[in-house]
Amino acid sequence: MNKIAQIFESLDYGPAPEGPQPALDWLDSHGKTFGHYIDGQWTKPGKTFSSDNPATGASLAQITDGTAEDVDAAVKAARAAFPLWSALSGYERGKYLYAIARLIQKHARLFAVLESLDNGKPIRESRDVDIPLVARHFYHHAGWAQHLSRAFPDHVPYGVCGQIIPWNFPLLMLAWKIAPALAAGNTVILKPAEFTSLTALLFAEICDRAGLPKGVVNIVTGEGGTGQAITGHPGIDKIAFTGSTEVGKAIRAATAGTGKGLSLELGGKSPYIVFEDADIDSAIEGLVDAIWFNQGQVCCAGSRLLVQESIEERFITKLKLRMSTLRVGDPLDKSVDIGALVAQVQVTRVKDMLKAGAKEGAVIYEPDMDLPAKGCFLKPALVTNVSPANTLVTEEIFGPVLVAMSFRTPEEAVQLANNTKYGLAATIWSENINLALDIAPKIKAGVVWINGTNQFDAAVGFGGYKESGYGREGGKEGLAAYLKPAWEKDLKPAPAAKIAPAKAANPLDNGHVDQTAKMYIGGKQARPDSGYSRPVHSATGALIGEVGDGNRKDIRNAVEAARAALGWSTTAAHSRAQILYFLAENLDYRREEFAARIKAQTGEDGAAEVALSVERLFAFAGWADKYDGAVHNPPQRTVAIAMVEPIGVIGIVAPPSRPLLGSIALIAPALAMGNPVVLVPSDRSPLSVTDLYQVIETSDVPHGVINIVTGDSITLAKTLAEHDGVDGLWFAGSAEASAMVERASISNLKQTWTSRGLYYDLADRRFEGDYFLSKATQVKNVWVPYGA
Ligand code: NDP
Repeated sequence: MNKIAQIFESLDYGPAPEGPQPALDWLDSHGKTFGHYIDGQWTKPGKTFSSDNPATGASLAQITDGTAEDVDAAVKAARAAFPLWSALSGYERGKYLYAIARLIQKHARLFAVLESLDNGKPIRESRDVDIPLVARHFYHHAGWAQHLSRAFPDHVPYGVCGQIIPWNFPLLMLAWKIAPALAAGNTVILKPAEFTSLTALLFAEICDRAGLPKGVVNIVTGEGGTGQAITGHPGIDKIAFTGSTEVGKAIRAATAGTGKGLSLELGGKSPYIVFEDADIDSAIEGLVDAIWFNQGQVCCAGSRLLVQESIEERFITKLKLRMSTLRVGDPLDKSVDIGALVAQVQVTRVKDMLKAGAKEGAVIYEPDMDLPAKGCFLKPALVTNVSPANTLVTEEIFGPVLVAMSFRTPEEAVQLANNTKYGLAATIWSENINLALDIAPKIKAGVVWINGTNQFDAAVGFGGYKESGYGREGGKEGLAAYLKPAWEKDLKPAPAAKIAPAKAANPLDNGHVDQTAKMYIGGKQARPDSGYSRPVHSATGALIGEVGDGNRKDIRNAVEAARAALGWSTTAAHSRAQILYFLAENLDYRREEFAARIKAQTGEDGAAEVALSVERLFAFAGWADKYDGAVHNPPQRTVAIAMVEPIGVIGIVAPPSRPLLGSIALIAPALAMGNPVVLVPSDRSPLSVTDLYQVIETSDVPHGVINIVTGDSITLAKTLAEHDGVDGLWFAGSAEASAMVERASISNLKQTWTSRGLYYDLADRRFEGDYFLSKATQVKNVWVPYGA
C-alpha cells in the first residue's frame, strides 16, 4: 500500500506543528529576563525564578519575584495615574480599550503560541478560545467605558485595584480583570500566577503600544508572597482574585475590616447532568469539552458526571471509546486534544488524589495510550464506583479526571448536583426543554449550560454561588463590581449613642398589663433559650420593658426555621409583593401605637419614622416583581438568561438608631427578593420590632420567612457570621464589630454588607432602590440554545 492509501486506512493524524519561533524571538528580545512593568516602564530584574515550558521542562525566561517595595512602587504609580485616567471621558477611555483589543487581534498568534508554551494548553484552545475571548472582552468593555455614566449614574470607580490571577487561563483572566476595571475608570496592579506570567508581560507591551497613560496598568510578577503584599497594601481600594477557595478565604481574612472592595472567583466541582432523553453523542462531545478542555484545569470544569441510571451503561461505554481517541501530546501540535498540565507539582497533586480515591474504592479507567516521554502529561481518567462522600467527588481535582455517578429521578439529580460546597457552574443535557428549564433554576450555581458547556462571553456574567465566591465577571454585573456609589465617600462616622444612666423604674407604672416580648421563630413566639431577659430603657434611662436575651441556640433555631422557609424564593414575585403591601397596610393601621413606642424608646417623635417604614415596605413591595434579569445575546447560537436569584438565608443586624425603620429598611429588600431573614433588631430599642409580631402574623407572611432574635447585637452577629446555614449577613454597627463579622463569615464565604462604623441614614430614599436589592440577589446565567 502506498502512504496515502495507508493514511486512508488508518485515518491517523499526521503532525501539524505550530512553530514556536516568533514567541521565542520575543523572549530573546527581552534577553529572556523580565522585570516588572510599573509606571509605564520596565524595572530592572530583581531576584528571579524560572518560567518553564511544562511540555518540555525547558526554561523559557527568568521572571522577577516581586517584593513589597515593588508592589508599593506599583501602587504609587497607579494612585498617581488615577485622577487623570478616571477624569477622561468614557469615549477617551473606550478608545484605549479599543486599541488594546485591536492590538491583541493583530498579534493574536504570538499571544496564542506564547500562552501554549508557557501554560501547556493545546494551541487549538489558546488560538481559538482564549485569545479571541480576550479581544472580545476588550471590545465589549470599550463600549461600556463610553456608556458608563448612563448605565451607572452617580457611581464612581473604586480607585486603585489589586488583581491576582491564576495560571489556568493566564491572558483570559487578565482580560476579565483589567478590561472592566479600566472601563470603569480604575487603575490596576495585576499579579499573574508564578507559572504563567509571560502573556501578561507581552500584554504590558501592548499597553505601551496603545499609548495607555503610564501607571494605569502595572504588572508585578511574583509568587504567593507578592500576592499577599497586594492584598495587604493599604493604598489599594479593591481586590479582585481568581484562584483556589483556600487562598480566597485567606484574602477575605486579610481584607476584613479594611473597607476594600472584594470579588472572589474561586473553585468548583461542577455537575454535568445527562438525562435519559439526551442526545448522547452530543452529550459525550460536550463532556470532552467540559472536563478535558485545558487538561481539566478549569474552575467550572464539568468534573462530576451525573448520568441517569437507565442510560448509564451505554453512556459509559461510549465515553470510554471516545476517551481512547483523545490525543495527548505536544501543545503546539494543532491536532492535539490534551496538552501538558501546568507544572510537575500539579501532576503530582492529581496523581496523589487519584491514589487516595483508589484507596477509598474508586475504580479508575485510563485509555490505553502512549504519553510523551517527558513533560507534565497525564492520561484522561474516568472514575467510577464512588459515593457522594468520596474525596474525588467532593474535592476539586483540577486535572483531566472525570468522576461519574448515576441518578434515578430528576429530584435526585438536583440533590446530587447541589451536594457540594461549591456553586460555580452546571451543565444539563436533555432533549426535553421543559425538564431542562425545570432543573436549571434548582441548581445552586452561577452559570448553567443547557445542551452545551463551557460557553463564555464578555456580555454574560460569570461567577459563583456558595464557596465558589462572589461577584461576577463579564456583563453589567461584572462592571458593577468595579464601581461604587458616589455618595459613599461622604459618609460620616455614626454618632455615639447617648445612653442615659439607667433609672430604677417600673415598666408597670404605666398601668398596663405586663408585656413579655419573646423571640419570633418559625412563625411562633418563643421564649429565649437562656431564660434571661434584658432591660430596655427610654432615652432618659427609665426602664420601659424587657426582651429575651437571645443566644447561640436561639440563632440556631431561627436559622433552621429560615432554611425550612427557603421556598419563599420560589413564591411568585407578585405574591411576595402582596405580602409586603399587606405588612405595610397592617403597620399603617397601627401607626399611632408604633409612633408612641418609638417615642418611649428614643424620646423622639415616632410618627415620621412609622410613615417612612410604611413607605419603605411599599417601595420594596413595588420592586418585588420589577428588579429582574435580562436576556443576553452572546455571539454563539444561544441566549443567556440572566436570572436574578435570592442569596438564601440573610442574617440582618439592625443599627441601634431608628428602632423600626432601621429594621424595616433592611428586611424589606431581602424579603422582596425572596430571602428568608433572621433579624436582630436594635439592641438598644428592640420593642418596635417585638411589637411587629402581630403585624407579621396578620399579613400572611409564611412561617419562617421572618425570624426575630433579640439580644446583644455583637454577640448575635458573631453567631450569625459563624453559622454555615446563613448565606448572607448585613451588619450595621461599629468598625471593629464590622471587621469581626467579615472575618467570622469566612467558613462558608457568606456575602456580607457592613456599615463599618459609618452612618447610613436609612431614611434617605437612596436606600429604597437597588443599593440593597443588589446585595439581596445574585445573578445566574442560564445558557439556552436558540435560533438558527
Ligand atoms: P492559588 O489560589 O494558590 O493561586 C492563585 C493566585 O493567587 C496566584 O497568582 C498565586 O500566586 C496567588 N496567591 C497564592 N497565595 C496567595 C496569598 N496568600 N495571597 C495572595 N495571593 C496569593 O492557586 P494555585 O495556583 O496554587 O492552584 C491551586 C489550586 O487552586 C488548583 O489546584 C485548583 O484547585 C485551584 N485553582 C482554581 C482556579 C479557579 O479558576 N477557580 C484557578 C487556579 C487554581 P502563585 O502563582 O505565585 O502561587
